[in-house]
Amino acid sequence: MQRLVLLDLDDTLIDRRQALAAVVTRFADRHRLTAAEREGVLGRLGERACLADFAALRELHGLTVPAGALWQQYAQDMAESVLCPAGVLEGLEALRVRGWRIAIATNGPGDVQRAKLDATGLAARVHAVCVSGELGFRKPDPRMFAAAARSCGAHPGEGGWMVGDDPVKDIIGGRSAGLTTLWIGRAADWPATLPAPDRIAPTALRAIRLLLALTPEEG
Ligand SMILES: [Mg+2]
Repeated sequence: MQRLVLLDLDDTLIDRRQALAAVVTRFADRHRLTAAEREGVLGRLGERACLADFAALRELHGLTVPAGALWQQYAQDMAESVLCPAGVLEGLEALRVRGWRIAIATNGPGDVQRAKLDATGLAARVHAVCVSGELGFRKPDPRMFAAAARSCGAHPGEGGWMVGDDPVKDIIGGRSAGLTTLWIGRAADWPATLPAPDRIAPTALRAIRLLLALTPEEG
């Protein structure tokens, strides 16, 4: 199997949920929303966020700031709030040294995802980044995995690993694309109705260590 690993971004390499909570608190403070309204915003942006969400929030809360400016502020706040756990950047570097090709395959809008990748230093540690908003298809679409493999100089169809937290988008999708799958489970149980992933790790760092253990340093 070629040394290829595709990694999801949100809630795999970075903790999007934690960053989003901080960003929504800032949004609520800035626009003087009540606690209940803040919860509503958090719920709306919980799974994913796009410009249309901010147009709707602007309408709902009678904000005067244009939706485009709210969106830009969101991208900036996310980039400032997001953290990459200790050891992950070094782990990616160690994989590169051992000959792994590494790409991030993430669903989301290009501007927000790239702002987070730059701010955390992840963009500089991988060979390539594929963002669904720039490609026009999303995981679990097999084209996303093929594009990510190609983008880092690997060959789709010659195997590799897919690491991610979403059972369907990352794991079922990755397997359909011919990849060995590693689920970032955190404390959750794998959904009983779905075929199991090949491996499970609680965090991205543990997943990276598992891949490093498969490819020990030579000499
Ligand atoms: Mg994810």
